[in-house]
Parts: sequence; C-alpha cells; structure tokens
Amino acid sequence: IFLQFKSRFWEKSPLETGGLQTTSNVGIVGGSSSTDLPVRTVVYPSYYQGLPKDGPGVLLASYTWENDAIKYSPFTEEECFELALNDIVTLHGEIARKEWIPGKENNKAHYWQNDKTVVGGAYAKYGVGQVKNLMVAMMRSEDFIHWAGEHTDIHNAWILGALNSAVRVVKEILQENSMNDKWLKLKNSRLLKYWNGNLDAFKGY
Ligand SMILES: Cc1cc2nc3c(=O)[nH]c(=O)nc-3n(C[C@H](O)[C@H](O)[C@H](O)COP(=O)(O)OP(=O)(O)OC[C@H]3O[C@@H](n4cnc5c(N)ncnc54)[C@H](O)[C@@H]3O)c2cc1C
Repeated sequence: IFLQFKSRFWEKSPLETGGLQTTSNVGIVGGSSSTDLPVRTVVYPSYYQGLPKDGPGVLLASYTWENDAIKYSPFTEEECFELALNDIVTLHGEIARKEWIPGKENNKAHYWQNDKTVVGGAYAKYGVGQVKNLMVAMMRSEDFIHWAGEHTDIHNAWILGALNSAVRVVKEILQENSMNDKWLKLKNSRLLKYWNGNLDAFKGY
C-alpha cells in the first residue's frame, strides 16, 4: 500500500515536525520499520536523498505477504489507504494524517492475488526438499519443449533466476541443434562472459 504525502515528514526530526518522538529523534531516510501493526513493514524510500524534505513523497506504507496481505483483501483500495494511514499515525503521530494527500489518483493499494496479469501468483515457493526433487526435474526438456522461468533456477523467486533460466534454455536449444559454435560465441560475449548459470549447483542430482 503506497501513500502519498505533501511533505516527507519522516525524513525530518520529530522535534521539528511535532511527530511522535523516538529514542534517537533523527529523521528516517531509507530503510524499513518492522512492526507488529497490520501494516507490518513500512519501507522508507532512499531515492529522495538530496531533495528538499518539504517536497512531496510516496511511502511504501505497508509491504505484506501471505496471511498478513490476505487481511487487506476484503477492503476497497480507499479503505486500505485509511487502514494503513491509521498505522502510520500510530508510528509517526498526527503529522501523517495532516500531510496525507487522499484519493485514488495519489495512492495505490495492490493485492496481487486479484491481479489477473500475474495469474494469482508471484513465484514458486518450494518447500523442504522440493528444490532437489522438483526443480531439477522441471529443468529437463521434454523432446523439443524447453522450460524457462524463475522456478527452474537456483535463484528461484528472483528476476535473476528468470534471466539465468532464459540463458540456459538458449544454451540447450543451440547445443541440441548442433550449434555449439553459436553458443560459445554468445557465452564469450560481453553480456554472458561471467554467466555460469549455477549449473554446478545441480551436479550429482
Ligand atoms: C510483489 C512482487 C515483488 C517482487 N520483487 C522482486 C524483487 O524485488 N527483485 C526480484 O529480483 N524479483 C522480485 N519478484 C520476483 C520476480 O518478479 C519474478 O521472479 C520474475 O518476474 C519471474 O519471471 P518469469 O519470467 O519466470 O515469470 P513471470 O514474470 O511470472 O512470467 C510468466 C508469464 O507467463 C504468462 N502466462 C501464464 N500462464 C500463461 C498461459 N497459459 N499462456 C500464456 N502466458 C501465460 C504470465 O501472464 C506472465 O506474463 C517479485 C515478485 C512479486 C510478485
């Protein structure tokens, strides 16, 4: 849940803004707060560094997963804004409510489970032993069909895994079609010079 504010009050000392005091009373630039409130994790962007703190800013007011995220699912986007804002007020004081810019055009709540473009998922979440038992099997081609995707790489759940798997599939297709020279050319290109695909990690499986 992203909330937009007229000023980045969190970057200033609460002594200056009248916000809730902390043990250090210094502003927060970058990093995150882990809380036991429904918002769970608040992420403070670091990319405003050097810009005037009185300027507007967007806070990742709530970054949740699994059951913590599901708790927001019955609510409309606007209701999610209000719920998250209440927790930000608990953390920072009424300054947050004062500085908040309401409205759907200024804030965003996204519940990935309802997002049709991701088909209700994010990445494969392997259980104990499944990397060994499932991932290796899913990396194997079936005749002319080759399988790419983050779920087929040791860096599962990351963009790196998706990219690694794409390179692996290109390698498989070139080598299986007597084009090893093309693969070696590609492998020695600047782009892939240091790629190892972590294939060694699967040796012996
Ligand atoms: C909320 C969130 C935060 C993330 N944060 C990070 C991060 O900070 N850093 C990071 O490295 N990774 C992050 N990831 C993970 C990263 O986005 C994925 O690991 C990566 O996008 C997976 O790429 P992929 O190509 O394997 O699969 P996808 O990107 O999921 O691509 C699969 C595609 O197949 C399409 N598809 C599905 N079924 C069919 C069908 N039947 N016919 C045709 N097309 C179909 C889908 O629409 C989709 O476009 C995050 C993911 C999520 C959801």
